[in-house]
Amino acid sequence: MICQRCGKPIKPGEPYDQLDNPGASRGGCTIYLHQAQCPNAYTRTYPEGRRP
Ligand SMILES: [Zn+2]
Repeated sequence: MICQRCGKPIKPGEPYDQLDNPGASRGGCTIYLHQAQCPNAYTRTYPEGRRP
């Protein structure tokens, strides 16, 4: 399974959170997140010189 926060695979044995995502456009799916801090989480900052 893939962590939806950082996009990295969650290895077997690693603790994870499982969340239902009923609002998903695909008609509901389950998302997984690393329970601990993601090893390489996406930052919400924008690259230099590229702002919305
Ligand atoms: Zn993660």
